[in-house]
Amino acid sequence: MHSKSLPQHRCWAEIDLAALERNVRSIQAHLPSGMEYIAVVKADAYGHGMPQIVRRMLQSGIQYLAVANVHEAADIRHMGLNCPILILSPLLPEEDPLLFDYQAIATISSRQEANRLQALADKRQQSIEVHLKVDTGMGRLGVWHEEAPPLIAEIKQMPRLRLSGLYTHFACADTDLAFTQRQRQRLQNLLPSPLPQWTLHADNSSGIASTDQVGPWNAARIGLLQFGINPQSSQDRSPAIPIEAVFSFHARIGLIKKLPANTAISYGSTYTLKKNSTIAVLTAGYADGIPYLLGNHGHVIIANQICPIIGRITMDQTIVDVSHLPQPEVGDPAILIGNSYDCEITLTSVSQQANTIPWETLCSITKRVTRVYRNAREL
Ligand SMILES: *Cc1c(COP(=O)(O)O)cnc(C)c1O
Repeated sequence: MHSKSLPQHRCWAEIDLAALERNVRSIQAHLPSGMEYIAVVKADAYGHGMPQIVRRMLQSGIQYLAVANVHEAADIRHMGLNCPILILSPLLPEEDPLLFDYQAIATISSRQEANRLQALADKRQQSIEVHLKVDTGMGRLGVWHEEAPPLIAEIKQMPRLRLSGLYTHFACADTDLAFTQRQRQRLQNLLPSPLPQWTLHADNSSGIASTDQVGPWNAARIGLLQFGINPQSSQDRSPAIPIEAVFSFHARIGLIKKLPANTAISYGSTYTLKKNSTIAVLTAGYADGIPYLLGNHGHVIIANQICPIIGRITMDQTIVDVSHLPQPEVGDPAILIGNSYDCEITLTSVSQQANTIPWETLCSITKRVTRVYRNAREL
């Protein structure tokens, strides 16, 4: 008989909503007063599950959301919410009419988009709210900053477009402070005087560590940080904002067996047991979002001890060495990302081992992984 109370799933992610709320409030307290917190909840709230995350954010004082596309905005509207929602990516022309259905704010980067939306809005005798994005050095979305002033003037003349915001996006907010300041300056240089009632935003999670208390900015777009992950790649520039991890990732032991020394493990026989060993086969693989590159590199926590991943990660299974555990049992939980009493495996360290970034690791946790929500608020 197993003494521990067992989880119900083969593989699951735990989302601590109380930790999310503490992070949101901590970031809010850090933002200069009057600066709107635009919570970025694209990609299913960075893999955490959009509805639960959005609901708790609104309960924590968030009033403005941003998503990647109009379909994500529709998901929020279908929850019955009517806060402002900014769409961060360009719309495809056939998506334009959905702006009316879901009352979302479009981001535009070009005269072509402005004309397209103006024509559609005119046909429907309705107006469309837009933010103009300016490319100040990211080289992706936005009108190139030198070409922005005439476009701003034109958009202001379009009767059906309501220009309510101007923004830019940083390329190197986590690594290059000087270039980030140059990007800020390029946007500031475009601002007309007197300044219209625009939402002016530039900062992402990395930006707010260096945000200027006296600049014209009155909003910041916060993504990763609210999930308790420090976006800074180097530990020494951690922001002075207390945050804690919201997400942890778990699987279980599906099989335990003893194998003799010199046995090769998993596809490609890339690992060979050095001695007689006990191995455990976990109930999750790369189809659940365990990065393939963790094969022979990563670790998991079982029974409060670190266990190395041996051999290649496979689609549905991951093999770990549990020779040093006193009494591993089938069904025991294994922590892939998270902490126990004495051990911690952070999302950041896993991402580094997998040669990727925390954003991608989170977005790669698949649908097969049940999201289990902790500390939901009683309503
Ligand atoms: C995703 C995104 C953000 C949030 O970035 P984080 O680094 O996760 O805070 C902000 N702005 C834009 C335009 C984005 O696409």
